[in-house]
Amino acid sequence: MTSPDTRRPTAPLSSALVTGPTPIVFAGCSLIAGAPECDCPARAPHLDDAAVEARARGMFVWQQKAPPAGRAAARRGIDGLLAHARGRGPSALVAELLRMSVLLRIMEEDTAHLVEIDALLRAYGELAEISGDVCWLAEVAVLRAHRAVIFDHGDAALPDTAAALAILADVADPGPGPDGLARTQRMSRTLNGLLLVLLKLGAHELADEVSQRALAVAESGSGPIDRLIHQLNRVRLQLSWALRLERGGREAAAATRFVAAAQIAHIAARLWTDARDRHLGGGLPPVEECIVVGTAYAMQHPGPQHLARLADLGRMAFLVDDRILLAIAAARCHMTAGRAHDAVRALEPLRAELSGRDGPEPLLALALHREFALVEGAARGGVPRSPGLEHYAAALEEELWALREARLLALRSHSEHHRLAREHGAVAAQALQDPLTGLPNRRALDMRLAEEVASPTSQPCAVALVDLDRFKDVNDARSHAAGDRVLRAVASCLRTALRAPDMVARYGGDEFVVVMPATALPVARAALVRAADAVAALPEDVAAGVTMSVGVVRAPLDVDPSAALAGADAAMYRAKHQGGNRVVIGTVPTGDIPAGPVERTGRLRRVMSQVHSGAPGHRTAGR
Ligand SMILES: [Zn+2]
Repeated sequence: MTSPDTRRPTAPLSSALVTGPTPIVFAGCSLIAGAPECDCPARAPHLDDAAVEARARGMFVWQQKAPPAGRAAARRGIDGLLAHARGRGPSALVAELLRMSVLLRIMEEDTAHLVEIDALLRAYGELAEISGDVCWLAEVAVLRAHRAVIFDHGDAALPDTAAALAILADVADPGPGPDGLARTQRMSRTLNGLLLVLLKLGAHELADEVSQRALAVAESGSGPIDRLIHQLNRVRLQLSWALRLERGGREAAAATRFVAAAQIAHIAARLWTDARDRHLGGGLPPVEECIVVGTAYAMQHPGPQHLARLADLGRMAFLVDDRILLAIAAARCHMTAGRAHDAVRALEPLRAELSGRDGPEPLLALALHREFALVEGAARGGVPRSPGLEHYAAALEEELWALREARLLALRSHSEHHRLAREHGAVAAQALQDPLTGLPNRRALDMRLAEEVASPTSQPCAVALVDLDRFKDVNDARSHAAGDRVLRAVASCLRTALRAPDMVARYGGDEFVVVMPATALPVARAALVRAADAVAALPEDVAAGVTMSVGVVRAPLDVDPSAALAGADAAMYRAKHQGGNRVVIGTVPTGDIPAGPVERTGRLRRVMSQVHSGAPGHRTAGR
């Protein structure tokens, strides 16, 4: 029997981690039937592997909504099944039960389980190593990162998160074929787990990349329920991102995220209706029975018309993150009706509950506390808080934002290192990475360019040369340390603004090179303009007002890479002359290249020093 409850697409982010190929079979488990304990381990000798796995999976899904005593009983049940399966020798079943045991304990967030978690994780990791399956290894890295992000400080999760990012970036999407479906499903749940970790780390930009990949994988292989779960997680991602941007004082950017959340919610609602009609033959509109969809709509256009529905949805919400989103949405709906006291009441119970516990990275909890401070102030008649306290709060938020940026850069840099290490070995990787920015260095660039133009199967790539405008002023007027900070900020911004397959390398000084595989010039130019806008929009205290001049060319196959660089350089030079902060398309010179990259830099330096010293007509302007 398939329980309609588990087939219903109500999967929260955490249970989305466990979506697997097997339909959930509840038949037989005494715990799920209502008994205080599970009898599955006692019955296991009479069950085959598939039936054992189905029973464990049933308990796994069931316990997510169970009270603590039920969760503990389910844990004992799955442990019993694992002990039995281990007696049968190593198998895919043992691996699957190990995974469930680990995940179940991590999700309980109880430090009492840490020793067991580590032992189980080690056993699971060993099986993955033996299999040599890279996607499985990525899954282990995600579990380790998940463990770290729950039980340690977020920074402790960075190395494993980066490893997972790097491995998954290299794994091709599973295609059709006999084991295609199983691989698709493993990939799908691994990407989902990674998304969850990245959200907890506040790395929304990376979470967005992972989420898009997850969706693409689901669209290529797994079923409509998988697609729905990914879309719902994308809505959660956008909402959490919007709230994070608000905390950082980035209201306009937050507004676009709220719009995106509602748009994706619309897609999810359609998938939801399809899935439900297939399994249950009808029901309420998704906005009334799907927490994520209802919340996204209310957040986009808050108003009292959403309140009754939000209250109904609140009765179904059991995940803390969902309850936070619902409470904030309800508070905003009350506020638009001018009812600040009701808004306070919508937030107060959850706020009190969250104040009692301290999760390691309370990202959404902070959003709730902020919301409470705002509505509570309004309820007291807008009495301003102490200016000292306001200033303190603003300074704290600024510091947290800087921490978030540093974390994003660290993740990019770690993951680039992992990629280089797997391609070229650990020692070589060190020699291929720029220590200041974590970006690939010039040697790594040369190797990549040589590959790109030599590969007979590839499409021509676009190559861009980026030079910062007014960077010399920063170094002169401030300090080299300030200059280094600017370089790191710009590097991080560039890396984030460009696409995952693009290589962003530090070429030297304040010059960067971007290699965009198989990219037509208009597409490359548009991406670079977005990147230049992002750099120009960096706050003055972060990037000291630097902008970038960019020259971009399309590098034909079989061309000498230095010719492509020379072409990009000449175009960049024109961008400088036109005032900087712009992207200029150039051409690749044919015939002999008089100046290689080394000489080129020398010439460039001379030109730049003229520009910076304010030679007539060469002055770089803001825009
Ligand atoms: Zn049972």
